[in-house]
Amino acid sequence: MKPTTTPKTYRVKSFGCQMNVYDGERMGELLEAQGITPAPEGEDADLVVLNTCHIREKATEKVYSDIGRLVKAGEEAGKKPMIAVAGCVAQAEGEEIMARAPAVGMVVGPQAYHRLGDMVKDAAAGRRNTDTDMPEDAKFAALPARRKVAASAFLTIQEGCDKFCTYCVVPYTRGAEISRPYSDLLREAEKLVEAGARELTLLGQNVNAWSGEDDKGRAVGFDGLIRTLAELPGLHRIRYTTSHPNDMTEGLIAAHGEVEKLMPYLHLPVQSGSDRVLKAMNRSHTAQSYLKLLDRFRAVRPDIALSGDFIVGFPGETEAEFEETLALVNEVKYAAAYSFKYSPRPGTPAASMDGQVAPQVMDERLQRLQAALNHHQLAFNEASVGKNCKVLIERKGKHPGQWLGKSPWLQSVFFEGDCAMGDLVEVELVQAGPNSLAGRVLQPARA
Ligand code: SAM
Ligand code: SF4
Repeated sequence: MKPTTTPKTYRVKSFGCQMNVYDGERMGELLEAQGITPAPEGEDADLVVLNTCHIREKATEKVYSDIGRLVKAGEEAGKKPMIAVAGCVAQAEGEEIMARAPAVGMVVGPQAYHRLGDMVKDAAAGRRNTDTDMPEDAKFAALPARRKVAASAFLTIQEGCDKFCTYCVVPYTRGAEISRPYSDLLREAEKLVEAGARELTLLGQNVNAWSGEDDKGRAVGFDGLIRTLAELPGLHRIRYTTSHPNDMTEGLIAAHGEVEKLMPYLHLPVQSGSDRVLKAMNRSHTAQSYLKLLDRFRAVRPDIALSGDFIVGFPGETEAEFEETLALVNEVKYAAAYSFKYSPRPGTPAASMDGQVAPQVMDERLQRLQAALNHHQLAFNEASVGKNCKVLIERKGKHPGQWLGKSPWLQSVFFEGDCAMGDLVEVELVQAGPNSLAGRVLQPARA
């Protein structure tokens, strides 16, 4: 087997949330700045970064099986791939991974990946390295400038979480809440638009908790940031995720009625429809206060598409409490949603609560919840048929001449036409399925 040398090619495999996707892109840029290029499709990479997620079940086992697969593929090819473990599993289990998996050359936490380049050099020299420090905001300043991006790009504006929902590992793996400085965000947004982004999705574990100061030291809230970004010429659309009901401000709600570039879509996790369960989750909102909040968004933006996150089988959840979740879903009629079985996370308060729900009960509840969510998603798509809207083209479809883009309500829309990536095209929505719609181009508009 060839000895470890400086890698020429890399591949980042990102799991989990959009913030990991963003981090994965930034790690890629960092490696490219060192002359390491993306491995061509279908070819093994010299360096593989496993950018892991720790939010639910089997995250750690998945990492070990991925490492085993990479080692085996390397042995078959007579190579020893350099393996880096990054992301939230790295943060939570770094030392353990180093001890158990000698093939891993480096472990790097989500707040330390700006050091990846140096760690690669160390690994090439045979030195294994772990960095799971959490220096406040040091990472972003140390990353190279943005270069080539897709029409729809992510921009992480806030990281970490101080909410400590009793089931969630994020406050432990991503650390305390920090907001990136306003001026840095404006600079990065400008670079993304220069590099071809037409839509920006602002990211954060609690994105609407973002706060900053402008160059005169005046306080700027999340809605102020959105209003400033909306002035960027060349940027057509702004989205954000994920927000928390407790950080919703009057200003953000008003922005949905006033800022044309802010898309009519709100992902606002509720987790449960039962106030007892919400309290045990430490969510500090009730089902009613959540519903009232949605009404305020609908008042300023009647066509807003709503989305949420749900957990079934939280410890102690009764059948009647689960039915309160179903009732909430049927009242809100979500356009999209993410639903999960509760997964005990080591070190979180809920993991040691009484009344852990049996797996088969969770399975059955998840199926019923998903049936309701799917019903409303299809109904939302069907109600869109006949509407005209702008679609931002994000990629080519499966068939020649076919394009795939997103409607303002974040629906996937397929259509054919003489278009290009990043175009904003006027489309009539003609047919609906559960996960996408077919469109007919009315007017191609080169962006
Ligand atoms: N900060 C966001 C919020 O407050 O809703 C969400 C962040 S979390 C990465 C995304 C979703 O994962 C949560 O909304 C929740 O539904 C789900 N989740 C988190 N921990 C979980 C657990 N232990 N078991 C099952 N689902 C979980
Ligand atoms: Fe996790 Fe709750 Fe923080 Fe969201 S608000 S990241 S669910 S602790």
